[in-house]
Order: sequence, then C-alpha cells, then structure tokens
Amino acid sequence: SARILTQPLVLRGKTLRNRVVFGAHTANMSENGLPGTQHLHYYLERARGGAGMIVVEPQPVHDTAVLTRGNFRPNDDAVIPGFRRITEACKAEGAVMVQQLYHVGQHGDADLSYRPNWSPSGMPSYHDSDGSHALRANEIEELIGGYIRAAERCRKAGFDGVEVWAAYHSLIEQFWRPWSNRRTDEWGGSLENRMRFGRRIIEGIRQACGEDFIIGLSASHAAKDPVALSLDDMTEILCSYDATGHVDYISCGSGSYIDYDRVMPTFVHGEKLSADLTRRLKAQVSHAVITAESQIRTPDNAESMLRAQEADLVSVVRGQIADPFWGRKVTENRDDDIRDCISCNQMCWGRRSRDYWISCLVNPSAGREHDWGSEGSIAPADAPRKLLVIGAGPAGLEAARVAAARGHSVTICEAGAQIGGQFRLAGEQPRRGQVLELLDWYERQFDALGVDLRLNTFVDAEDVAGYGADEVIVATGSLPPETGFQRWLPERDRLDGIGAGNVCSVEDIMRRAMVPGKRVVLLDEGGHWRGSGTAWFLAERGHEVSIVTPDAHIAAELGRTTSDVPLRQTLARAGVRFHTESVIDKWTGQQAAVLSMLTGDTTMIDADTLVLATTNTAFDMLAQDLDAAGIACHQIGDCVAPRLAPYAFYEGRKLALHL
Ligand code: SF4
Repeated sequence: SARILTQPLVLRGKTLRNRVVFGAHTANMSENGLPGTQHLHYYLERARGGAGMIVVEPQPVHDTAVLTRGNFRPNDDAVIPGFRRITEACKAEGAVMVQQLYHVGQHGDADLSYRPNWSPSGMPSYHDSDGSHALRANEIEELIGGYIRAAERCRKAGFDGVEVWAAYHSLIEQFWRPWSNRRTDEWGGSLENRMRFGRRIIEGIRQACGEDFIIGLSASHAAKDPVALSLDDMTEILCSYDATGHVDYISCGSGSYIDYDRVMPTFVHGEKLSADLTRRLKAQVSHAVITAESQIRTPDNAESMLRAQEADLVSVVRGQIADPFWGRKVTENRDDDIRDCISCNQMCWGRRSRDYWISCLVNPSAGREHDWGSEGSIAPADAPRKLLVIGAGPAGLEAARVAAARGHSVTICEAGAQIGGQFRLAGEQPRRGQVLELLDWYERQFDALGVDLRLNTFVDAEDVAGYGADEVIVATGSLPPETGFQRWLPERDRLDGIGAGNVCSVEDIMRRAMVPGKRVVLLDEGGHWRGSGTAWFLAERGHEVSIVTPDAHIAAELGRTTSDVPLRQTLARAGVRFHTESVIDKWTGQQAAVLSMLTGDTTMIDADTLVLATTNTAFDMLAQDLDAAGIACHQIGDCVAPRLAPYAFYEGRKLALHL
C-alpha cells in the first residue's frame, strides 16, 4: 500500500505535501544578527528537496534569550526582510514555513548578552555555575509580550506559523517543572499555575496572529533526567494545551539540558527515545503529533513510526542536512539514492557547539549552497574531460562521484580490494556500521554514473600516462604512524623504545593485519574515534585495554561532536582502563612506562602490544613523483595533510565542482 510518509496533511488550512518535516535546529548562520543569503539557500535547498514543512531555526524572543553568536536579533523588525526572502522562496518550492520561538531561561549564555539569565526561580544554568535571576511578575509579562511580538514578526515575514519551544528544559518547561519552578505566586505551585506562562503565550499568539496561523508546541521527554516531569505529567500538560484548540501540532523529542547526552543521541542510543510520549499523545490529542526522534534516518524507520500510530509527521533533521533531497527521493521511491546521515555529529552539532555555522561530513555543500549551488542541479562541466582519480578513500570517492555527475568521464583506481580507505576501517568499529552503508551508497552511485572503478590497481607515476587522462587527481591518503611522536613530548621525535617490537597501529588492528596480545596499551593522541573506537573493538574481543592520553579525559575531542559520556561509560564498563593527562615515557616491548603529566610519577604497565593512535603521515609519494616528472596533478585529502574525514569529503567535492 502507498506510504503514509508521502501523503499530504492539512495543518490549519495549509497543506503539507508529505509528512516530512525539516525540524528546527540552530544553523547559526546569521550575518550581523540578520538572516542572509547563506540562510536563504540553506533552507531553499531543503524546500527544493521536497520537505513538507520547514521549521526555521529559532528567533530568540528577548535579549536574555540569545544563545549563540549566529542567533537572530531579538526584538528587532530588521530581521523581517531577510525572513521574507526565505519564506517566499521556500513557499514557491512547495514547503509550509514555520519558525521556532525560543528562550532557554536559566540555561542561557551570559557571555553573549551580558545580561543575567532569567528563570522562574533563580536556578543555575546547565552550562556553568552562575545563578540566574528569579523573574518578577512584570518581567514575566515582558517575556510573554516578547513571544507574542516575535510571532507577529514571523507573520509579517510570511511564515505560516510558529513553533513555541518548550523542549529540553527551556524556559516554558522550567515553569512546568516543580524542580525549577518554586514560586508561590500565580505562576507556581499547582499544575494549572505552572502551565499559565505557556498558556498565556499560546493564547496571546493566537489572538495576535489570527485563526489561520499555525501554532506548534515543541516538547521533550527526558527519561533519564532525575528531575524531569513524569510521562504522566508531561502527557497531561500537553493534552491540556491541545484542549485549548489553539495548538495545531505537538513536536516531541527526547532529552533535556540537564540530561545532555540525550539531547543529541548518537550511535550509542539505538532506542526510540521519545516514542513513549508520542504514542500516548497520538492516542489522546486531537491535533497532529510530530516525532523529532533523532534516530529516524531512513524512510523505513519513519514509515514504521507513522504506521504504528506513533506520530503523524516525522522530523528528519540530520537526514536532510546530509541529503537535502530526502523528501523528494522518498516521494519518487528512490530510497537507495538517499545519502544517509552517518550520525557522526561532527560537522552539524560539532560545529554548532563551537559556535560556527553548521555543515555536514557527508554533504560539505550544507551551509555552502549559496556558494556551491544546489545539489539538485549540479552544473555540467563546460568541457567534459577524462579524469583519473588515484585512491578511493573519502576524498577520491567524492571527487569521482561529483566529477562524473558533472559529465566528466571518470576512472578511479584503488590499490586495495575495497573502496573506503581508512573510512572503511572506522566503519568496522563497534556501532559505526552506518559508515559502511555510506560506502555502499558510493558503489551504487558509481554504477549509476558510469564511473570506472578499478580495485586492486596500484598506480605509480609511470602508469599515469597510460590512462590518457586530461586531469589527474591524487588522493592516496596517509600512512599509519611509525615513530609514536607525542605532542606533549615535542623534544622527542620518536617514542623511546619504539623499535623494541610488539608495536602496531590502529590501522593494523582494524585491518586485521595484526592480532594483538591479550594485554594492550593504546596510545591515543587525538581523542577521536580512532583511539576510542579501536579500544572498544579490542575490549569486545576480550583484550585488556589501557588507554594513555594527554587529554584530561578519554575521547576528549569527541565530546565536542558527540555524546562522549556514554562512550566513556561503555569503555569503562568493558574494563578499559584510563590513564589521562599522561604520556608514554618508554616502551620496552613488554611494558609501557606511563608518565603522569600532573604528578610526574611513572607507572609501569605490563602489556603484550602497544597500539598507536597517533598522527598519521601523508602518503604523497605519487604526487611527488608526478611533480618530478612534470605531470600536473591535483592533490586532495590526507595525502596533503592527515586530517579528519570531513576535510577529505570537502576537498573532494570542492575540486570536482570546479573542474
Ligand atoms: Fe549526519 Fe554527521 Fe552530517 Fe551531522 S555531520 S548530518 S551527523 S552525517
């Protein structure tokens, strides 16, 4: 039978062409606080790509609500023209347009506003130990007015509605929870009083913006948050708002600022975290329910939730960042063509958490649509040429795919038996199989685009001429570290004792080229997946693993991009031992001397194998030989400098778009 996912749905007289929502998230792209060209094209791409409804990122409703440098200006009609450009362009492409309104209350960032955070009862922020200002009655009225004026601004800018954000223990939810609302006036105490703030906002927006204006409410269920509302209380609150008749949809996610790991669940959490709440609401409310379940990546996942009566609409955020044409491909039954998000969080949440505008590891055009153009209409090459790509890791794969899509005739040679390079090794680590699915996608794309893929084909400088290529792209990657150089021992180029034997790299382990002994010491310089994922892989196979890292905690860099706490918990529970803020002073072949950078003490660890997760070396022999032979080539990815995968995808696409 026909998919529910592709069926239309009417919200307050506006028809959504399908059930796919591009939910609100902070793209963080404003220019001087205003929505500009980058924003316009970011959303326009997803409207072209078939999203039924787009919820544009939040407009802070008050000076005290600003959370990032890329946030829009609060209280300023100057944002209206920029938003109008976005709504007009996206509506012309068939999307219903809504904007989220937010205030995070006690969890704000005072560095940005230089104003204290405002909250119901003066509780501290999640982000730091600063206290917040307990709202006075007139300030509560000021905030309610802020929400209503922001909604009016949305209406003037051509939005079809607004989504009032009450999720993740934001300000409205702070009023709901007795833990954060300890007031004894009309805004605290009974459930009715605690709901008053949200109710006044919703009723005020309805009155100010009229009967044809969509009002959504976004909430979340934080099952692991010890001070969260119970599922019963949350259901009662949301049903009560629904009963006002003013709320057209309720969007449910999971997590809270307090239970932060759950705000952005990754590979660690396979469960449908908000399904309990959406299922209950779906049975009880009269209006639409959106699931903002971050595990929904595939059309089949989404369809199963709709069929199980767990939701009416699905919010697919990371899926549509990774493939803006997700909605259209689903509608056209081209699921196999969808480039899946791999749940890495590296360039979306990771960049946002560093206060940059967001992008995507698998789709480096995200955030660059205004510059690089729409993926839906990749410009054909002026003069199609013959291209030879050498190396089928991320950089080579992406260069070959995009060049072929532009009409070039592409041959890609890979010395190994499979495509993917080190990226494939990452996919072999526990719970990272999505990486392998992405590589399958590249193989399907190559078939469709007629890319000539030659595996087990080593190409040296003399071979190149035989291919008769007009352009040569060298993407030969990097080699595992040999010296064990540690950045906190810069005076030593080599790890003392590196030649004593029983040393290998994470690549050797993941390639199964080396079976380590029972006891393993893993030197992790990067704090990324290479070290932690390999430690997990070994621990799952019964090895006793000790990680030595100069960072203050294991997987330190991952903490900026993903939920590192559950990962550390998983490693600790698997028996992995952590030696943080430490270096390896010496390796004997059977023992590692681990030097604490804090105390200066040395601990000897018995080990059968030392595994190096230190910095790789660029493998640029071919590029150098071509240079010496006077043959021009383009060099991309790790063979330029060993880095994380997103930069390889970025360089591959950028080069191919300009060839
Ligand atoms: Fe998905 Fe990673 Fe892209 Fe974020 S950066 S959308 S998690 S693939």
